[in-house]
Amino acid sequence: MSATLRLPRRGSFGLRLLFLIILPGVALLSMPVAFGQQHVSTISLEPGETLVVDGIEVLPVQGKIYMLVGGGANVTVQIGEEGVVVVDTGAAGQSKRIITAIRRLTNKPIRTIVNTSADPDHVAGNAAFVEAAGGPRGPGTATPLGPNAGAEMISTEEAYNRMLNGGPGRPEMLGDALPRSTFFTPRKDIYSNGEGIALLFQPRAHTDGDLLVHFRGSDVVAAGDVFNTTSYPAIDTAQRGSINGVIAALNTLIEVTIPERNQMGGTRVIPGHGRISNEADLVDYRDMLTIIRDRIRDAVGKGMTLEQVKAARFSLEYDGLYGATTGPWTTDMFTEAIFREMTALRPAPPQRGATPQRGTTPQRGTTPQRGATR
Ligand SMILES: [Zn+2]
Repeated sequence: MSATLRLPRRGSFGLRLLFLIILPGVALLSMPVAFGQQHVSTISLEPGETLVVDGIEVLPVQGKIYMLVGGGANVTVQIGEEGVVVVDTGAAGQSKRIITAIRRLTNKPIRTIVNTSADPDHVAGNAAFVEAAGGPRGPGTATPLGPNAGAEMISTEEAYNRMLNGGPGRPEMLGDALPRSTFFTPRKDIYSNGEGIALLFQPRAHTDGDLLVHFRGSDVVAAGDVFNTTSYPAIDTAQRGSINGVIAALNTLIEVTIPERNQMGGTRVIPGHGRISNEADLVDYRDMLTIIRDRIRDAVGKGMTLEQVKAARFSLEYDGLYGATTGPWTTDMFTEAIFREMTALRPAPPQRGATPQRGTTPQRGTTPQRGATR
């Protein structure tokens, strides 16, 4: 193919450059079969099309990625020739329906399972998914199935310890429900179905063991619970979560995502709960959390009590979209988590008897910002 195309020898440099740029594109067009066959699918879904299997909604996201809704947290699935990668396994009692939905998309084996945190609505299906895969794979596994059978399950070490030990609202997990591959570094890279997948550790965000999962080829990120389009982020202080860590994780997501044009399209983001999003949605969410955090920080700096901060309703204009007065994560709980974090981070007051240093009180710098964010 390329032998029949000749670069113009006497053309301008610009023309030759143009040919050099076009050539790879021509080569791509000439190989529709190699690039068109993305995966073996028993059904075919177009973007925007939705399939409902046993009450589980299956949405094609982009590239090789699907989002499964209705079985607890959103479940992300990558499908290709090598098999299936699953991010999060849904809530207790939902596995059968979720696996049935995956089986409608492909008959390829489940090869990799990633947990974005230790929350039951994200990991309760772990053991059922490993069973459906034919067993566990990874360190310490006796593999009668052979080195290429079964599923490798991955989480951060912190999330693993949380699953192992249980906690408030989280039963202890055992055996095949526990990940066998854990890591504590900022990042772990895996490769599946022709694309790199970056697992990005977000310490002390929604919990102390959160992962973002970036499918680099499909250009999709599974964000877990640092990003929810239906609620304020659950800052799980019992699992060492923090608002500053959530904002840092959202900034990482914003660095990773690239919009197509006018802040729309481009990289798709699958939240822990809610709808498929893009970079503009992340920016809005990050800005909202930053504004609420700053207001509460300023109030703490002025010595307001928790009751006063709750009564002041610093998140009022966002409560219609994200707030709740009942359920597992209310606006009051969200406010209190931020209040306690800002109180803990407040600079120590000057010691008694020490000369007051007017220029270094906590109010400095924060007071003018408050006016700016209103
Ligand atoms: Zn969740």
